[in-house]
Amino acid sequence: MKILMYNTVLKELPFVKDWAAKTGHEVVNLFEPLSVDNAAKAESFDAISTQQTTAMPAPIYKILANAGIKQIALRQVGYDVFDLPAAFANKIRLSNVAAYSPRAIAEYTLTQLFNILRNSKKFDRAMATGDYTWDAGGQAREIYQLTVAVIGVGRIGSAFAQMLHALGAKVLGVDPLYHAQNEAFLEYTTLDDALSRANVISFHTPLNDETRELADQSFFDKIQPGTIMLNMARGEIVDMAALEAALSSGQLYGAAFDVTPNENEFMNQKHELSELPENIQRLTKLDNFYLSPHIAFYTNTAIKNMVEIALNDAVVLANDGFTENEILR
Ligand code: NAD
Repeated sequence: MKILMYNTVLKELPFVKDWAAKTGHEVVNLFEPLSVDNAAKAESFDAISTQQTTAMPAPIYKILANAGIKQIALRQVGYDVFDLPAAFANKIRLSNVAAYSPRAIAEYTLTQLFNILRNSKKFDRAMATGDYTWDAGGQAREIYQLTVAVIGVGRIGSAFAQMLHALGAKVLGVDPLYHAQNEAFLEYTTLDDALSRANVISFHTPLNDETRELADQSFFDKIQPGTIMLNMARGEIVDMAALEAALSSGQLYGAAFDVTPNENEFMNQKHELSELPENIQRLTKLDNFYLSPHIAFYTNTAIKNMVEIALNDAVVLANDGFTENEILR
């Protein structure tokens, strides 16, 4: 089978080459996103794949259908880039990669928890000025003595919970969906109970009507003073003004975020420090706030899985087969 891969990035190339060698399929890389201008290039191919943040508007699906293409395999989670009605109207089947590496995000969440516990930012900043005293950063706490509330026990939340359990921490799970197998490493409870008991709160829910600003002022009022907060899920889950107040008052001991509500204004871009959003400038000055540029997923395993899962699905759907990654109407 001949597959046209749109918007290939250099880090994907070795995995594309390996996959092609293992499966015997031919993959041609195009280093631009799928658009109305280049959709007809799929004509001599059997299947296509892309990863992109730019939208794929309605006319594209007609061009692809006329070129004999039956599917688009997206190499990412977010499929809001598709025009679903237009795709279905042209009998173009769609797939995405919903779980490329839950452990990647779970491991990064754990990394940042350890950084906060060990006061890494304070020590790093002090050492940069020649201050190598123990008091510069302060004493740490050990993870096995902590109670961690995992809000959202799905793919990533359950991977994180298992890691914490293996390290000896007490894990509380909050999720409207109950999975009995998770009882092996966590205790399910209500949100209010978790907030009253947790030393650490970590968000792993999708963004939806219930989770938007879930962590508002009343949420912060319910937590124990000195709690640690971790958000590697979606920025809009936390009211950033309430977060700032809690970090300054000591209601939060520290927080680590890989996402913010305004991340599209600056993440994965280069800016002068003075051009960053004002709340980001204030937050990143704090010793107890750790910000990262939406990199929790960014591991070699995740990129490999994005490529391999999407290309496998491209073959399956082009052969009129079935994949659990298909986006259904
Ligand atoms: P998932 O769908 O597997 O799990 C989400 C869980 O949250 C589900 O079990 C669901 O029942 C639960 N949930 C929904 N509403 C809830 C609520 N109000 N309270 C408690 N639980 C609730 O999702 P996932 O793949 O584990 O992803 C989790 C989050 O991580 C998503 O927001 C995703 O966008 C984000 N994510 C971040 C990165 C990154 O690089 N930082 C990468 C991938 C995913």
